[in-house]
Amino acid sequence: MERAGVRLVILGAGESGVGAAILAKKQGFEVFVSDFGEIKQAYQDELNQYKIPFEAQKHTEELILNATEVVKSPGIADKVNIVKKLKEKNIPIVSEIEFAGRYSNAKMICITGSNGKSTTTMLTYHILQNAGLNVGLAGNIGKSFARQVAQENFDYYVLEISSFMLDDMYEFKADIAVLLNITPDHLDRYDYQMANYVKSKFRIVQNQTASDHFIYCDDDLEIKNYMAYADIKSQKHPFSIEHELKNGAYLKANNLMINLTNSDQFEMTIQDLALQGKHNTYNSMASGILAKTLEIRNETIRESMGNYKNIDHRLEFVANISGITFINDSKATNVNSVWYALESLNTDVVLIMGGVDKGNDYTMLKELMRQKVKAIICLGKDNKALHDAFEDDVEVMVNTFSASEAVQIAYHMAKKGSTVLLSPACASFDLFKNYEDRGNQFKAAVKEL
Ligand code: ADP
Repeated sequence: MERAGVRLVILGAGESGVGAAILAKKQGFEVFVSDFGEIKQAYQDELNQYKIPFEAQKHTEELILNATEVVKSPGIADKVNIVKKLKEKNIPIVSEIEFAGRYSNAKMICITGSNGKSTTTMLTYHILQNAGLNVGLAGNIGKSFARQVAQENFDYYVLEISSFMLDDMYEFKADIAVLLNITPDHLDRYDYQMANYVKSKFRIVQNQTASDHFIYCDDDLEIKNYMAYADIKSQKHPFSIEHELKNGAYLKANNLMINLTNSDQFEMTIQDLALQGKHNTYNSMASGILAKTLEIRNETIRESMGNYKNIDHRLEFVANISGITFINDSKATNVNSVWYALESLNTDVVLIMGGVDKGNDYTMLKELMRQKVKAIICLGKDNKALHDAFEDDVEVMVNTFSASEAVQIAYHMAKKGSTVLLSPACASFDLFKNYEDRGNQFKAAVKEL
């Protein structure tokens, strides 16, 4: 069933690109995969197995600019040469989610935000699974959505969606959309304009109708400001820890409450939530509302939100050595997530931070730094921005160039009863493979103390 003349070119042969290639092949398209970097052996083997032609470490224009449509990896920025050329030729470029969504009738649950996406996506998946739904997990996590559309048959998908994916989504519709928060991140990809980034995040509600749901944080000023003017057709369910809400989630004393029209009230003591801390209360609220819109029983929701086990590298407890607690928050790659990490601690802190600065504005951290942070151990190739930002707020600042050096110095500086926190506010690519590698090296170094 060759779709004659329809040539689908896939840029980027990672999990999403290879998944898209497999789905496209199954759908009968002429497929070609091109990656400017290396392609992992396992993916090469897979492409060969499906008889999908590909190239690595180059983009051959004759093989790409003749595409009918292009599926682009979210990692490839619009300013890259080949993307510019495709745009000049008006060749449509879509994300893997947009492409794969065309071939699935499942209910789409899409979760976005600057922080908390993975945590909320996993928690939601956990609740839906416990409720017995036939549900898949995809997006930025695990196996690609396209691969699962090609190989599985789920009724629901919980999708973690980044702004880069949203930028190349047009017709795709989220049956349930969640917007957790919007704080500055990745501004280098948005011409350093916050408004562009906010607009991108709100693509999560595009195409929604009155029968769909939109769950969002009512304490987030960026979200509120945008919503004052936006025309959103779906049913709106806000959540807040600052005020009571008639149709949404809020805190009453120490209880997380959810009120939705046509549904019984949900109530759960926040001490019973598996995910602790203010930021995680928001995440639990979002997942809880979502589960309620799917009419999952209160008891199942309560149980699932109580026994969920968080994923690694997010405020992950590592060890307590001589009265000093070590916490791995390597996934905190922007300023806002560091704020929540510091906010959640009630001890003195020795903070290990740094890496690739994405144009950070550190102002919001200054007060917590003065209150809680006794020393900053910089862990990055270039730490100038950190020194400039905090030299007046924190007494001791030290440069280190490996996880073990950082951990050893932090251990010597920390007093009994305090916390050594790795919460970098930056990407990891200068000294590490990725944030997991950074977190794992940190944990290994702690275990060696
Ligand atoms: P994402 O997938 O959006 O990057 P994660 O769930 O992986 O989010 O968490 C990333 C970082 O943000 C971690 O340091 C985590 O502790 C912190 N975090 C989680 N949820 C929130 C939230 N709702 N607001 C702010 N920070 C959060």
